[in-house]
Amino acid sequence: MQVAAAVLADYEELRVERLELDAPGPGEVLVRLRAAGVCHSDYHVFSGDLPLPTPMVLGHEGAGVVEAVGAGVRAVAPGDAVVLSWLPACGRCPRCLAGRPELCRVPALAAEHGTLPDGRLPFRRPGNGEPVYQFSLTGTFAERTVVPEAGVVRLPPGTDLEAAALLGCSVLTGTGAAWRTAALRPAESVAVFGAGGVGLNVLQGARLVAAFPRIAVDVHADRLAAAQAFGATHVVDASSASAVDAVLDLTDGEGVDAAFEVVGRPETMAQAFNVTRPGGRTVVVGVAPPNAEVALNAFAFPSQERTLIGCWYGQSSPARDIPPLLRLHQAGLLQLHGLISRRYSLDQLPQAFEAMLSGAVNRALLSFE
Ligand SMILES: [Zn+2]
Ligand SMILES: [Zn+2]
Repeated sequence: MQVAAAVLADYEELRVERLELDAPGPGEVLVRLRAAGVCHSDYHVFSGDLPLPTPMVLGHEGAGVVEAVGAGVRAVAPGDAVVLSWLPACGRCPRCLAGRPELCRVPALAAEHGTLPDGRLPFRRPGNGEPVYQFSLTGTFAERTVVPEAGVVRLPPGTDLEAAALLGCSVLTGTGAAWRTAALRPAESVAVFGAGGVGLNVLQGARLVAAFPRIAVDVHADRLAAAQAFGATHVVDASSASAVDAVLDLTDGEGVDAAFEVVGRPETMAQAFNVTRPGGRTVVVGVAPPNAEVALNAFAFPSQERTLIGCWYGQSSPARDIPPLLRLHQAGLLQLHGLISRRYSLDQLPQAFEAMLSGAVNRALLSFE
C-alpha cells in the first residue's frame, strides 16, 4: 500500500513523499496514525546532530488504530486504538530480565540502523524500490507505519488519541525520571532545567508526589509560563540571571534534593549538578550530541556524596507504565491536553520544528485527521 510520509531525504532536507509500505510481518503491527508528537530527538536527526541513515521517515511518538497484524501477534487486533513506543524491549535479554527494559540492546541496535529488529525496512520508494529507513522502530510522521508488537500498547476504547500520542515519549520519560530515576519523595526540593515537552512532565510528576519547592529554569518566557501551569512553584529566567545563583537563593543557599537536566547541553548539566545540595542527585534526561563532554567538580562526589544519574526513557516499560498514566489522566490528575499547543499537517513539519525550537509550543502535534 502507498502512504504519505515526511521523509528526511538528507540532513536538513525534508519532503513529503508517497512511499510503499509493506504488510506487517510476523510479530508486527500496521498502525494508521491519528496523531504524532514532534520531539527534539526528531530535530536532532533532521539537523544531523544524531547521525542516522537517510532517507528516513522521522517521528517516534504517536497514537492510532491497528489496521492489520502479522502472524503470531496476540496483544492487539485490527480496530484496537494504540499508542506507539519507540522502545520495544525484547523481554528476554539480560537487561530486560534485570528489570531494565529501557536498556534492551535489541531496539537500540535496530534504531541505530534505522530498521525493525529483524533488519527489515517496511518503507520504500515506489518505482526504484529504494529502501527508506524508519526512525527508532516507529516512523510516526506517516499516515501509516509498521512496528513491532512490543512497540504498541492497547488503549481503552474511546481514548482521546491526540492526548494519548504523547504518552509514548515525553510523558513516559518525564514522569519516569521523577518517579523512578530520582525516586522523588514528598517535600523534596526539585529544580528542572528545560521546560519543554519532557521537562513539563518532570514537573507534573514532581507535583503528583508533592515534591516542594519545584523550580523551573528556562530561557524562554513562554516555557516558564507553561511550567507554572504544569506544577512549577517557582521559575527562574536563565536568560537574564545566573540560574545557579537563583536556585540557590530560592533554597536558602542549600541547593535542591534533585536536579533534572532536560536540555541536552553540557553547560546546563553542570548547572544542574551545581544546584544540588550535599547528598543531592542530578538526573540527566537531556540528550546531548554523542561526542559532548561535561566538566564537573570531582571533589563534590566523595566529599558531598552528590550523584549524577542518567535516565533513558524514564526507566519506563510502556506496557507496564502507560495504563496507569492514562488512569491518572482520566482522573484529572495528569495533564495531557495542555501539552498540545498547536496542530500541524504532515507538510508543515518544518514549521512545527521552528515552533518547538523557539519555545512557542509545549508540544507540536502532527494531526492526520
Ligand atoms: Zn521523543
Ligand atoms: Zn531485551
